[in-house]
Order: sequence, then C-alpha cells, then structure tokens
Amino acid sequence: MSIPLDGRAVAAKIKEELIRDVAVFAGAHGHAPGLAVVIVGEDPASKVYVKRISANCNEVGVRFERIALPAGASAVDLEAALVRLSEDPRTTGVIVQMPLPKHLSAKIVTDTLSPAKDVDGLCPVNAGLLMMGQPCFVPSTPLGGLELLKRYEIPLKGAEAVVVGRSPVVGKPMANLLLNEHATVTICHSRTRDLAAETRRADVLVAAIGKAKMITADMIKPGAAVVDFGINPTEAGIVGDVDFEAAKEVAGWITPVPGGTGPMTNVMLLRNTLTAAKRLVGEE
Ligand code: NDP
Repeated sequence: MSIPLDGRAVAAKIKEELIRDVAVFAGAHGHAPGLAVVIVGEDPASKVYVKRISANCNEVGVRFERIALPAGASAVDLEAALVRLSEDPRTTGVIVQMPLPKHLSAKIVTDTLSPAKDVDGLCPVNAGLLMMGQPCFVPSTPLGGLELLKRYEIPLKGAEAVVVGRSPVVGKPMANLLLNEHATVTICHSRTRDLAAETRRADVLVAAIGKAKMITADMIKPGAAVVDFGINPTEAGIVGDVDFEAAKEVAGWITPVPGGTGPMTNVMLLRNTLTAAKRLVGEE
C-alpha cells in the first residue's frame, strides 16, 4: 500500500507560508506583489480558473488584476496590454489565459511579455534558463510536482526518473527540473517504442499524457514514486493518467487525482509571483 502524495495538505501548508512571506515583503517595500491575468474572450473554463486565481490571491495578500480583452481583440491590442503590464511597477507577475482565440498566436505572448514577469515560465528565455539550471520561472504545474516530491523527501539524486509526455508546459520542464535535481532522466512520448519497458525502470515515474488511466499497475516498479499530472474528465468524474486504484497497491508513493498535483499548481503560481516581486527589487 502506497503513501499518498497529498497535494491538498501540502498546498495548504505552502499557502500559510505565503501569507507570512507576502506580508513580510509588503511591509518591507510598501506594496504587495501583484499578479495580472489577461483573458481574451469568453471561454467559460478560463473564467472559472481566473476566479479561482483571484480568490487565492486575496487569501495570501497578492494584489490581483484582471485584464479582459474582447474575443475580437487584435494582436496589437494584446501586445499593448502586455507591454503596459511589463512596464507597470505594481504588477510583478503576468499570465495570459490559454487557449487564446484562434486568430491570436501564443507566440505574441512569449515574444512580448517581460521574462522577469513571466510567472507561468512560458517565455523562451525562462525555458532556456531552466535548461541551463539557472534561476528562472518554471511553469507552475511541474514546479508543484517537484515540490511534492521534495516535501515528502523522496530521493531524487541518482534516481531513475521517467517522464511520459514532452509538452513545453508539463513534461519537458518536469524532466529538466528532475535533471537539475541530479536524477537520471528518460523522456517518453507517443513514438516511444516500448513504453512499459521504460516506465518499469522508474524510481520516479511522471505521467503528463492526457489519457485516462493509461499507466497501468504492471507498468510501475514496486515502491516507485508516481506523480500523475493527468486531468481527464470521464463519466465517473476526473481521473488521472495513472490507474490509481491498482497503481496504489504497487507504488511507494502516489498522487491521487484529484487532490495531488492540481492543488499544487495554484499555490506555485502565487509563489512565482512573490519570487518575481523579490527579484524585481533585487532581493533574490
Ligand atoms: P499535451 O497533449 O500537450 O502532451 C501530452 C504528451 O503526452 C505529449 O508529449 C504526447 O507525445 C504524450 N503522449 C500522448 N499519447 C501517448 C502515448 N500513447 N504514449 C506515450 N506518450 C503519449 O498535454 P499537456 O502536457 O498539456 O498535459 C498533460 C496532462 O496534464 C493533461 O491531462 C492535462 O490536462 C494535465 N495538466 C495538468 C495540470 C495540473 O495542474 N495538474 C496543468 C496542465 C495540464 P507527443 O509529444 O509525441 O505527441
């Protein structure tokens, strides 16, 4: 029977830490860190997500700003908003809610936004710095996954880590984070010849695939730490990329879905916003 990697409990603890650290920052500098969320159009899922971010910001004392652009906003409109926010000293972190309407490329965001305020870690400068093992902003989801592994003191140095998925937002940054922790990292994807042979070697197995219950118990090394980033809506509710019920009998540690990596994402975004505020005043 495995130990659950309890993202809800760890996220609650990190929130407490943030409340304290944000208050210290605001006391020292006369202003709180500020997060701006740009939302283009009326995507209902994005609206729900932005509301949650706003509530989380209020809870920890981060100033929240919502910049809503109409669905028909042009590339120039989006660029102008990002330039303004990049220059606004009250705003220390900026995210742009994805997906953007089809006529707007995400490249506008990564080309325009100041890397110093890119708290979602999407700009090429931040991706490059991560690859070089230098201070940068890392996307919140993989950062939260790594934080869970660290808080549960799971050995990473020299461990065999296998990451299934190579997206720029989850799989690739997670692989780089693990490499920076001195794990021996293998990245798998849809063309990997024998996926099970790779995953069975893993002391730390990460699933970032987007396919319900694709990682079955027989693909897991007994005692492994399993981090499941998958969020897959099914008729039975949200499930992960790992077949949790069977996998928990084999793994040593495992993230439940929901309640594992999901809650960590939100708090890591707030932590990145505080880190950005500190770096902007030369504190970190
Ligand atoms: P993407 O669709 O961008 O990437 C999926 C990756 O999985 C790709 O690299 C793909 O390979 C690989 N893949 C697909 N099928 C297979 C297969 N049969 N065998 C091996 N690899 C395969 O997804 P994301 O990275 O954006 O998201 C991954 C999951 O994480 C999703 O469920 C998403 O909802 C969730 N997510 C969770 C968050 C959280 O807070 N927990 C936040 C963001 C996402 P290839 O590159 O070859 O196509």
